[in-house]
Amino acid sequence: MMRLALDIGATKFAAARVSADSPATARPPADCGPPPGAEFGLGAVHRVDVPASGVWEVCRELLLDVAGGAEVESVGIGAAGPVDVTAGVTGPLNIPEWRAGFPIVARVRELFPGATVRFAIDGACLALAEQRAGALRGVADALAMTVSSGIGGGILAGGRVLAGRTGNAGHVGHIVVPGEEVPCACGGFGCVEAVASGLSSVRWARSRGWRGSSGAELAAAAAAGNSTALAALERAGTALGRAVSSAAATLDIDLVVIGGGFAASGEPLWKPLRAAVTRHARLGFLRPLRVLPSEITAGATLAGAAVLAAGPGANAGDVPEWPA
Ligand SMILES: [Zn+2]
Repeated sequence: MMRLALDIGATKFAAARVSADSPATARPPADCGPPPGAEFGLGAVHRVDVPASGVWEVCRELLLDVAGGAEVESVGIGAAGPVDVTAGVTGPLNIPEWRAGFPIVARVRELFPGATVRFAIDGACLALAEQRAGALRGVADALAMTVSSGIGGGILAGGRVLAGRTGNAGHVGHIVVPGEEVPCACGGFGCVEAVASGLSSVRWARSRGWRGSSGAELAAAAAAGNSTALAALERAGTALGRAVSSAAATLDIDLVVIGGGFAASGEPLWKPLRAAVTRHARLGFLRPLRVLPSEITAGATLAGAAVLAAGPGANAGDVPEWPA
């Protein structure tokens, strides 16, 4: 009997076996990047690029490859949003073939009929992973955010991950920040993702004459003192601090953890972020609102999916499970 974890990302799928051993004795992963690792019992991680068509066929092959013919006891699935976890449907914006909604849970159950399947959005997986072995160890109430090409997140409330009505709770990238009427990929305007993600910040800097093309290049340019890059990170950090302050007041939390590639942009991003939090998070129950860097960046969704595969436990909250 074996457990599997599956990460449905925007451009890549990843899957791994999950050891049923206690975390301390789990075999360290062969090619899984720096954390997560043995804390999650993850075996060797298999990855494939998401193709333009035939997406399920590629995902299916990946799962069969990792399972290697063994009987599968449980599968934990983490997916880029939006999702409808009550229907077992994923609809990642960046996978056109699945955008209208793909019944991932039903297909995985056809593949492994005896398995229990648990399914959550990637932000919820991040929160579960941080709680198991990251910056949220022992924390009951917090927000875990990813700031990379997009912005997402997951919520811990009362020690458990909050799924929400359709599984999208914690989709904080679409908190609206003041003073910005930028069009967002969601169809709305002024969302923090449209202002402060890596992609959005690069777009803003390029519109002001900067010539680079990635968030990492933007961070490097800011570190080297480029004024446009510094202004782009100041703008992003301020927007993030405002969004974080709003979310913290809504959720009654005093701790936010931020991971993702663009969050690693250093002080030019974090200094304005902290300044905005100091300015906006003024209520007594928020002070001091701590915003910390994530301890789990690479593979956080797969790590959270491994937590789901191991069983709902006390902290998987209302993440649904099939068969019900
Ligand atoms: Zn939006």
